[in-house]
Amino acid sequence: MSLSVLISASEAVPFIKSGGLADVIGVLPRYLRRLGHDVRLVLPRYYGIDKTKFGLKPLAGVLVVPMGGAGDEYCAVYEGSLPDSDIPVYFLEHEGYFGRSGLYAENNVEYADNDRRFIFLSKGSLELCKMLDFFPDLVHANDWHTAAIPLLLNTTYRHDSHVGGAASLLTIHNMQYQGSFPPATMEILGVGWEHFTFLGVEKDDRVNLLKGGIYNATLLNTVSEGYAAEIQTPAQGWGLEGVLRERNRDLFGILNGVDYTEWSPESDPYITANYSAGDLGGKGLCKADVQKEMGLPQRGDVPLIGMVGRMVTQKGIDVFAEALPRLLELELQIVMLGEGEPWAHFYFGGMAASHRDRLSVCVGYDNGLAHRIEAGADFFLMPSAFEPCGLNQMYSLRYGTIPIVRGVGGLDDSVENFDENLLAGTGFKFHDLTAGALFDTVGWALHTWYNRREGIDRLRQRGMAVRFTWEGAAEKYDRLYKMALKRRSGASSDTPPRATRQ
Ligand code: ADP
Repeated sequence: MSLSVLISASEAVPFIKSGGLADVIGVLPRYLRRLGHDVRLVLPRYYGIDKTKFGLKPLAGVLVVPMGGAGDEYCAVYEGSLPDSDIPVYFLEHEGYFGRSGLYAENNVEYADNDRRFIFLSKGSLELCKMLDFFPDLVHANDWHTAAIPLLLNTTYRHDSHVGGAASLLTIHNMQYQGSFPPATMEILGVGWEHFTFLGVEKDDRVNLLKGGIYNATLLNTVSEGYAAEIQTPAQGWGLEGVLRERNRDLFGILNGVDYTEWSPESDPYITANYSAGDLGGKGLCKADVQKEMGLPQRGDVPLIGMVGRMVTQKGIDVFAEALPRLLELELQIVMLGEGEPWAHFYFGGMAASHRDRLSVCVGYDNGLAHRIEAGADFFLMPSAFEPCGLNQMYSLRYGTIPIVRGVGGLDDSVENFDENLLAGTGFKFHDLTAGALFDTVGWALHTWYNRREGIDRLRQRGMAVRFTWEGAAEKYDRLYKMALKRRSGASSDTPPRATRQ
């Protein structure tokens, strides 16, 4: 059965990206299309999205978006497509909301009107269906930015000519960010104050858009099975674990796939030399090259550990910072690429300045360098406090770069711990979020590197053979969509599907 699906999100590759969400939104639709679905994507037209480069064309007419107490607002809509596909992408062009240099924040300060910006995106996505005369069977919302959609579908848009019958799926890519705003946001949502309750959108006397989405979505999923279980616990639920437990029969985990057209050492255009599991010769050249690029001594005999990612507490950089002085006493090299919390820029930058032969840090965002680190490093470290899915460990496996990870969320699901006796596994894992556990596990990996090379070779070969395909993930989304449709058609026509409090 082929379905009409509208996917609404705040970012997607190749147009704009701040993290893994963009990778999913830019790739999943392609595989859903291959399954025969009519998939369309809605995004904001941020200042950073170049209309000429992506060949965006204006649609005739103006989109009217009712912003509750603030009245109607208007925007232009530009149409493009996911490159090399026939999947339409619609960009909402609102200079006041999206004509800014940041996506969500500038200089680490969140935009004060993020509620309006993303409620505009959510409502605009639904209004767009009228403009396009599109009748989605399902609207797929992602994270807090578009989590208002399931609530809107159950309320204001319940009897809408185009989306009134649509089921909804809310995918949670990260539980930490919930879209929490003052009560006045209810006026913009315009769904009525009766939804500002603990069985609705209210949390701690504030509007919590993610919570509203969790209560109202026909079905829910996260980006790994491990994370789907973890967010139902106080440690990882960020205060919404109770709500998630109430809906746990409707909550699923689907591990993201990897876009192997972009992330394969055989064909990667960003790296010095291509290589494969059968011929790893090029990997040594990649190592020498990235050492040179990062200003480290070009030594093949010292293990090189790579790190790429946002420098935020989620990624465990505080624990890594604590372990770093001891790590730098070992015979190793570390290269780091990322940006995030200002203290981290100063701390790691300072440590690099005083350990020039061992540590090199690049503060910034550089996709090419991310590829070269994946290819050139021997190990890849991800000591995350929590990790909904994580992509870099999956890229690392493909590049023969052995992941050293904390066994949490998607990291735990995608990396199999090294078994020294059987020479099995794909990486090194630790569980406690402590500098000691991190240090010991890096020590274990280095010990293996220096003393058991056959273990390293086996880990590499096994990792390079693993595939996390989007074909597989898309089939799971396909099943969830169909399940959601069944639920929706079975639901009573008037009452929103609400959970009851235990
Ligand atoms: P998250 O979405 O939590 O940031 P993921 O591991 O799911 O983490 O995805 C991060 C993605 O962003 C990966 O594709 C990674 O390579 C990329 N990335 C993160 N930081 C940088 C950076 N500083 N430069 C280049 N790519 C980066």
